[in-house]
Amino acid sequence: MALKTGQEYVASLRELKPQVYAFGKRIENPIDHPLIRPHVNCAAQTYDLAFDPHHSRLAIAKSHLTGKPINRFTHIHQSTEDLINKVKMLRLLGQRTGSCFQRCVGFDALNALYITTFEMDQDLGTSYHSRFRRFLEWVQDNDLMCVGAMTDPKGDRSLAPSQQADPDLYLRVVEKNTDGIVVRGAKMHQTGAVNAHQLLVMPTIGMRPGDESFAVSFATATDTPGVVMIFGRQTNDTRRLEGTLDQGNAHFGSVGGEALVIFDDVFVPWDRVFMCGETTHTGALVERFASLHRQNYGGCKTGLADVLIGATRTLAEYNGTLGASHVKDKLVEMVHLAESLYAGSLACSAEGRRTPSGAYYVDGLLANVTKLNVTRNVYEIVRLAQDLAGGLIATLPSEQDLQDPKLGPLVRKYLKGNASVPAEDRYRIARLIENMTGGTALVESMHGAGSPQAERIMILRQANLDQKKQLALRLAGITPLDAPIESPHSNH
Ligand code: SF4
Ligand code: FE
Repeated sequence: MALKTGQEYVASLRELKPQVYAFGKRIENPIDHPLIRPHVNCAAQTYDLAFDPHHSRLAIAKSHLTGKPINRFTHIHQSTEDLINKVKMLRLLGQRTGSCFQRCVGFDALNALYITTFEMDQDLGTSYHSRFRRFLEWVQDNDLMCVGAMTDPKGDRSLAPSQQADPDLYLRVVEKNTDGIVVRGAKMHQTGAVNAHQLLVMPTIGMRPGDESFAVSFATATDTPGVVMIFGRQTNDTRRLEGTLDQGNAHFGSVGGEALVIFDDVFVPWDRVFMCGETTHTGALVERFASLHRQNYGGCKTGLADVLIGATRTLAEYNGTLGASHVKDKLVEMVHLAESLYAGSLACSAEGRRTPSGAYYVDGLLANVTKLNVTRNVYEIVRLAQDLAGGLIATLPSEQDLQDPKLGPLVRKYLKGNASVPAEDRYRIARLIENMTGGTALVESMHGAGSPQAERIMILRQANLDQKKQLALRLAGITPLDAPIESPHSNH
């Protein structure tokens, strides 16, 4: 059973009994809870896409382990074409959902661990890679959704993990025995955690000697005893408990559902442990995962921008302003900003390379540049959308007023734009724009896949400023024109 439908994915989640809390209470059935259901619907699209005859080329890949068709979200990239197809698939899913479909994080964790466990075995003589391949084959065969669990709470950022006043602020191994390990700590901001099958845990930073107990990677089911998930709040989330129209995108939400995932002395058997004490390879694992996730953002966010540009254009049409030249200019600007992000994601994929493990990996410099651009371009796209949409998106009466027998006709009368367009259509589009440009969704573009400073650090590391200096010295006549230039054809 290599490929699941969206419905089968939802059915498989029902077999799990994770400990999920929201608003101070345990949610016994997270899948059907109105706070969580839109995220389930959204992730289900990553499954249904494999059954869409027009897009199965993007959504289905051939497992390099078994030769069987598998969902691309469980695939290890075997070529630059695979990397490019990933970006195209994410844009398509962004267009269909207007939200975060969450499954990319685990996809990136699988690829980062595949590459890094291979290197650990080569360098250290360990046997993590074969262990990881067995886990991967099981994930592929059962079409599982994994969480890529990286971000630790981190406590005082000026102190190393072992120097924290509370050592649990970085997830760590508290016990090792012949059967496995016991881990304690937490992972923050875990996208899709409450509706995934497996947590794929990695260290959060490059570790130094002395921090061995924090250098740990493993997989465990979301309902393993000791795993506690506290669901995060989002802007306007209680609208989900009230009705439909005010949500803007009731079926898929606006951003991935995030949770604080706590590991309260969780036992993990050795066959699911992929790093335990090897501080030497923590930095590489973090960098791989981060760059693979930053590759995505010119894919999914461009898909979302396509929806937002479409909504903004529609509202301008309903308002009767579509003919104005400044409106067209701003729509063009939005397209330019969005396609520039897409170009970055395609470029870092096309420039990807084969690693010694056989897996293909993106150009890290271009991936980080792409994500850093997302922290700017998406804000500018959103600013233009709000400019064109007008104050309506911030002052609309509620759905209850719209549907009220006495107030409804008045609201509809005064919400009318173009006389041929029902007032409710204008209301719906305005709510969609509000949903896509507000609070949590926007912050996700800033900090999702790592904050701007994290990208800058990786850009500096890979920018090859010394080579750029040599280029300038030659042309300024400070060094001879025929002086050798380091890596003359690329940055890398
Ligand atoms: Fe995927 Fe984008 Fe969501 Fe990250 S933000 S999980 S890349 S849809
Ligand atoms: Fe994200």
